Amino acid sequence: MVTTHNLGFPRIGKKRELKFALEQYWKNETTQQTLQQTATELRLQHWQEQASMNYVPVGDFSFYDQVLDTSFLLGNIPDRVGKIEGNELDSYFRVARGRSGGDTDKQCVHAGEMTKWFDTNYHYIVPEFEKTTQFSLHAENLIDQITEAKQQGYNVKPVILGPMTYLSLGKSKDGSDKLALLDQLLPVYIELIEKLKQQGLDWVQIDEPILVTELATPWQQAFSKAYSQLASTSINILLATYFGQLKENLGLACKLPVNGLHLDVTYAQDELEQVISDLPNDRVLSIGVINGRNIWKTNLSETLDWLEPIQQLLKDRLWLAPSCSLLHVPVDLNSEQKLNNEIQSWLAFAVQKLAELKILANALNYGRDSVAQELADNLADINNRKLSKQINNKIVKQRVSQIEATMGERQSNYVQRADIQANKINLPLFPTTTIGSFPQTTKIRKVRKDYRLGDIDRNQYQLAMQEEITNCVGEQELLGLDVLVHGEAERNDMVEYFAEKLAGFIFTQFGWVQSYGSRCVKPPVIVGDISRPTPMTVDTIKFAKSLTDKPMKGMLTGPVTILNWSFVRDDQPRSETCLQLALAIRDEVLDLEQAGIQIIQIDEAALREGLPLRKSQWKTYLDWATFAFRITANGVKDETQIHTHMCYSEFNDIIAEIAAMDADVITIETSRSDMELLDVFDQFQYPNAIGPGVYDIHSPNIPSVESMVQLMQKAAQRIPLQRLWVNPDCGLKTRSWDEVKPALKNMVAASKQLHEIFNQ
Ligand code: GLN
Ligand code: ZN
Repeated sequence: MVTTHNLGFPRIGKKRELKFALEQYWKNETTQQTLQQTATELRLQHWQEQASMNYVPVGDFSFYDQVLDTSFLLGNIPDRVGKIEGNELDSYFRVARGRSGGDTDKQCVHAGEMTKWFDTNYHYIVPEFEKTTQFSLHAENLIDQITEAKQQGYNVKPVILGPMTYLSLGKSKDGSDKLALLDQLLPVYIELIEKLKQQGLDWVQIDEPILVTELATPWQQAFSKAYSQLASTSINILLATYFGQLKENLGLACKLPVNGLHLDVTYAQDELEQVISDLPNDRVLSIGVINGRNIWKTNLSETLDWLEPIQQLLKDRLWLAPSCSLLHVPVDLNSEQKLNNEIQSWLAFAVQKLAELKILANALNYGRDSVAQELADNLADINNRKLSKQINNKIVKQRVSQIEATMGERQSNYVQRADIQANKINLPLFPTTTIGSFPQTTKIRKVRKDYRLGDIDRNQYQLAMQEEITNCVGEQELLGLDVLVHGEAERNDMVEYFAEKLAGFIFTQFGWVQSYGSRCVKPPVIVGDISRPTPMTVDTIKFAKSLTDKPMKGMLTGPVTILNWSFVRDDQPRSETCLQLALAIRDEVLDLEQAGIQIIQIDEAALREGLPLRKSQWKTYLDWATFAFRITANGVKDETQIHTHMCYSEFNDIIAEIAAMDADVITIETSRSDMELLDVFDQFQYPNAIGPGVYDIHSPNIPSVESMVQLMQKAAQRIPLQRLWVNPDCGLKTRSWDEVKPALKNMVAASKQLHEIFNQ
C-alpha cells in the first residue's frame, strides 16, 4: 500500500484568521488566551482538512515563523529578550518583530533579521549564533500540539527543521564558525527525538532543504556525522528535501542512515531513477508529486503513467506527498466566489492538492478503475485548459516567436546616447530625482477603495487622482527636484496595478500566501498569453507632465518583477511568459515616448529574487531575465533616457549582467550599507549612470545634508561625476509627507552642496 502524508499546511487560515488574531493581540486588544484559542481552532481545522492522509504533520503551525520556532525549541534565544520579563510567547514576538502585545517602549528590542526562505516569497527570522551559544530543549509546545492531534485520533508525524539547515540558515554574530556548534546541537536533537518516541510516534520528518544547494565539503561531511548520530535514536526519520535537485548531493542524501527520503520531483524528476537505484532497499522513498508552490491542478493520469512502474518496484516503500510544505499556496479554492468557472476548474489550492494526492494513492492502491470518474474529470479539465480560448492568443505567441536580438539593443552606445540626452534634457550635475511613489495617504487609499466598491464613479475617481498628482508635482517643484514623478497615487501595488490592466491575468479573493509573520500577499495569477489591450499609464503621465516644465519620468514595472511576484503558468517556461510581458511593456514604453515622455523608469525590484538556488544555474536565468528587460526598454530612440530601479544592495555578484541591461541610469538601494556596494566599482567599471540611494526610506529618520553629501562623495571616488544621480533608496509610499518633505529638502540641499564641493 502507498502511504500518503503532508509536509506542512498553511497556518494563516482560509480567511486569514491567524493574521487578524495576531494583529489584535499585538495591538493589545485581546488576551493571549484568545490568541491561543484561535491557534488551537485553526490547527484542529487544518488537521481535519488533512484527515485523508495516512500521516498529518504536527509542528508546522507557527505564530510567526517555523525557523524562529526552531530557535525557541532549541533554546537559542537572543540575550536581549531573555532578560525581559514575561512569558515565552511574548519573548517570541519580541524576537520576531521587536515588541509584543502591550509592551512598553522599555520592553522593546531590535527585531531579529529577516530574510527569504530559499527562493520562495516567504521570509524567516534568521537564527543568531555566537561562539558561546548554548542549546537546550524546550519541546513543551510541540509536545502539546502532538497531544492535541493524537486526542483527535490523527496519525501524527512531527515536522522539525534539521540541524544542518538550521545552522546553515543562521548568522554568526561574532564571525565564529557556525558549524562548530553542531557538536552541541546534536545532543539536543537526540533528546528531542527520544521525547517524540516517548509519545508513541513512529516517524519524524526532518527537513533538510539545504541538500538542494551547493554545500562546502565540511558541510557535506558534517551531514554524515550528524545523521549517523541521529540514527542512534529509535524513531524512524524521514529526511525531507525540496525546492530543487540533489545533484552532487544525491549520493550523500541516499547514503545517510535515515529511514526514508523525500524528493521534490517537481524539480528532481530526472533524478528519480538514480535515487531509486542508490537508496538502500529498506528505505522509504517519499515522492513529492503534487506541486506545493503553484496553484494548478496536476495531470493525474499522466502522473500515474510514470508512478505505476515505480510502485511496482518500491511497493510499500513508496510514499506520496506534495513536493514541499503547502505553506506556499492559498488554503482553499472553495473560498473563491467570483472566479470564472472555467478558470476555477483548472486550479488547486492546498485542500484541493491533498484531494489530488488521495486520488493518486487510491489509483495506485486499488487500481485506476476505483477512481475512474475522478481521473476522467481531472483529464477533462486539463485538456480544456490546453485548448481554452481564455489562455491562447495566437498573435502574442507569434510576436514572441519573432523577437530578434536587435530589438533588445539601443541604436547607439551609452556614451553617444548620453551626449544626445544631455543636450535634450538639460540637467545639472548630481541631478535629483525620486524612485516613483510618494506617500500613500489615508485619503488616497479611501478614494481607491470607494472607487473599487462603486461608491464613486470613474469621473470622480479620476478627478481625485488628478488632484493628488497636481499636489505631488507641486510639492516636488517647491522642493526643487530636477526630474519629477507623478507619485503613483493610483497604484495599490506595483505589480497588481499592471496585472489588472494586462490581459492574461486573473485575481483571486482569498488567494493569500504568507510572506512573513502576519503579512500575506495575494499574487496575481498568470493564466494565459499576455497582451496589453490599451495603454496603461500614458494618460496619467501626460497629465502629470502638463503640470510642469521640468522633465516628468514615466513609471513602469518591468517584466521580471511582474513575473517573480505572480503565480505563473506551468504550461510554458517562465522565460516565455517573461517575454510576453516584455513585449506588452515595450509597447507601453514606446507609447510613452510617442507621447513626449523623455525619461522612462522601468522598475526591476525583484530581479535578484529570481536567482536560482544554485550558482551554477544563475547564468541561464540572468540571460533570459536581462534579455526580457532589454526587449522592454531598448526599443526607444537615443534621446529617450531609460532608468531602472532595483531594491537590493548586494548586487556585486551580478553587476556585469545588470550593466548589460544597458539602462541609461540605475537607481539602487545603498544607504544602509554605507555605500559598501560601491566596492564593486573597484573591480568593475560600471559603464552607465547610477543613483546610489542616499536616503534610507525604511526608516522614519530624516537624513542630514552632511550624511548624504558624504555618501555621494564616497560614490564620486569611484564613479565619474557626470554619471551620478542623487535619489532615495526606494519609493516613498510607506512614509508620511511630514517625513518626506524635510528629507527631500535635505537631499536637494546635498546636491547643491556637491555642486560647490566639486566647483561646478
Ligand atoms: N516605483 C516604485 C515605487 O517607488 C518602486 C518600488 C520598489 O522598488 N519596490 O514605489
Ligand atoms: Zn525599491
